[in-house]
Amino acid sequence: MRKQIAAANWKMNLTISQGADLLDAIIAKPHSLTENQQAVFAVPSPYLAMAQAKVAGKKNVFIAAQNCYSKKSGAYTGEVSVEMLQSLGISVVVLGHSERREYFNESNQFLADKVNICLEYNITPIFCCGEALAIREAGTQNDYVAKQLEESLFHLSAEQLQKLVIAYEPIWAIGTGKTASSEQAQEMHAHLRAVLASKYGDAVAANISILYGGSVKGSNAKELFSQPDVDGGLVGGASLNADEFVTIINSLKA
Ligand code: PEP
Repeated sequence: MRKQIAAANWKMNLTISQGADLLDAIIAKPHSLTENQQAVFAVPSPYLAMAQAKVAGKKNVFIAAQNCYSKKSGAYTGEVSVEMLQSLGISVVVLGHSERREYFNESNQFLADKVNICLEYNITPIFCCGEALAIREAGTQNDYVAKQLEESLFHLSAEQLQKLVIAYEPIWAIGTGKTASSEQAQEMHAHLRAVLASKYGDAVAANISILYGGSVKGSNAKELFSQPDVDGGLVGGASLNADEFVTIINSLKA
């Protein structure tokens, strides 16, 4: 059975003490994760060790990096390697967020290299895909996201693919307050699953968690997550508020 996941993406926000307070506040609030549910916090790199220490021993709670580099080590000033993440006990990394694709020119091929190195080091990528508004308006979003998956993931074996989590994040809904309707989210998630099934078969595709991202909040999470192919969310703005994020965790399907 695939995991239901509430993943926070703090992006480049908060000081370390604000981040520590936020984690404390969320951990202190009542929520009980079932065996099948996970809470993930993608925190800025300088806070990984602090955050990892805070969730030590908490079942089904993981700290994630927001990015990593595609090379093992070397003269890549400012980059963070998967070996460094592994040495901190980090087992999840967000890859291919639309902000990385847009502002740092991350291509599908570059992301394929990052996926490969993560899998080599047993780190789970949360692989983001999603279309800009112009693509949605042209009605070509299904082909666009299929290409993102094909070019970054389809070289993987079925066994490798099943280690990934996918996040569908329509760019027009990120940080805009505009959420995809639950029907739009379900339609795209079913399409993504069908794309995966066309290459890897139904059983493999059925095992992969596909998260929705784009202005998820406490007030819309339950409706979005109730869709059969929506397995939780990747959450930006609302993850910076403890009450909101706890409501989002509590909205996961069991
Ligand atoms: C995100 O950055 O992944 C995101 C979905 O942001 P927001 O929830 O603020 O739209």
